[in-house]
Formats: sequence, C-alpha cells, structure tokens
Amino acid sequence: MSGFCRKSLCLFFALVFIFALSVPAFAASARTTVYRTKTGEHYHTGDCRFLGKSKIKTTLDAAVNEFHLTPCSVCNPPAFETEAEEAAIPTTEEAAATKTTRPANGEVLFSKNKTRPSTLTFENGTNYDCLVTMTNKSGTDVLQFYVRKGKDATIDIPTGVLTLNIAYGSTWKNGEELFGKNTQYDSGEEALDIGKGEDWTFTFG
Ligand SMILES: [Zn+2]
Repeated sequence: MSGFCRKSLCLFFALVFIFALSVPAFAASARTTVYRTKTGEHYHTGDCRFLGKSKIKTTLDAAVNEFHLTPCSVCNPPAFETEAEEAAIPTTEEAAATKTTRPANGEVLFSKNKTRPSTLTFENGTNYDCLVTMTNKSGTDVLQFYVRKGKDATIDIPTGVLTLNIAYGSTWKNGEELFGKNTQYDSGEEALDIGKGEDWTFTFG
C-alpha cells in the first residue's frame, strides 16, 4: 500500500486514493464560483442580498483579474491569499521547522514555488492531524501544508510530477519532531502528474 506505512495501524488506515478533477466549492481557487452584478464594484457569494437586481455567475479569477472587483464585506466571498499572506509563507523547510504551535487548517508551512496555478483538495477523513509534504521527481520537498483532523483543505500547488508524503498524529509538537514519538507516515504510492490549472482531490482515511 505504501512505502512508509509498515505497522499494524495500516490495517485501519486503508489509504483511499480518489483523484478527481473537480472544482472545490469551499475554498479560494481561481475557478471558484462567485457572483457579480451589472454595475457593482464587489463580487459576492450566491446568497448575498446585494444580488437582488442582477446576479451574474463568474469565477474568482475573472471577478478579480478581469472585472477588477473586490470581495463584498457583507457576504465575505472566497478571496485569493493577500500579498501579505503570500509573502509570509516561508520558502524553505528550515523556516517551517521552527513551527511550535499547531498549524492552522490549510496552512502552508513552506513553498519553494512562487507560482502555484493548480489546486489540491486534501480530504482528511481521519482523527489525526496531517502534515503533507509534496516531493518532486528529484526528491526535493517543494511544498508542505497542514490539514487538521476531520477537515478538508484546498491548497494552491505547483505543476509537475509530485508525490504526497503524509505524517500524521494526535498532538503537534514542532516542525522537527512533528507529532513526537507517535508520528506515523504514509505516502501516495503513485506520483501525481499535475498540469496547469488542474484541481485534484486526495482523500485520506
Ligand atoms: Zn455580498
């Protein structure tokens, strides 16, 4: 099943690989559906009260980059990471290793790629927090993110042939020890060949 998982717990954790091209509805990717009006300067979620007169379905990418709209402050539609958030993402694993507090759901601990044109929705069906590392063909770790137990997270990811390596456990210690002595490991046995603008889904548990 996997290169890392050898212990009996593997029996309980059949890794289910569901890779599907699908648009996640709950996170901000370029193709997330949002709504605009004929004349307004903001974009909205589908149920916003400002959509009474006109309601035009569009994508987050078009709303922001084509129509130059900003998110409505009433309905709080999905938004791209702000430049400040983007700039705060460490570019090396060394920076991420100092992380002592439990990371947020969907937090990117480091990313070596500035451009991440595709998405991966990681569905964590287990009762463990997951630290997911994406590794390229030459064995370099290029991206690392955190998904809390029982949660889903949609992450902007780079293109290329990438493997998922998952460390999971109950209580986060820090970026060096991960979940301490009880850290368990699993990995996707097949590399993903991620093309530009693709939305992947991975189900764990
Ligand atoms: Zn609104």
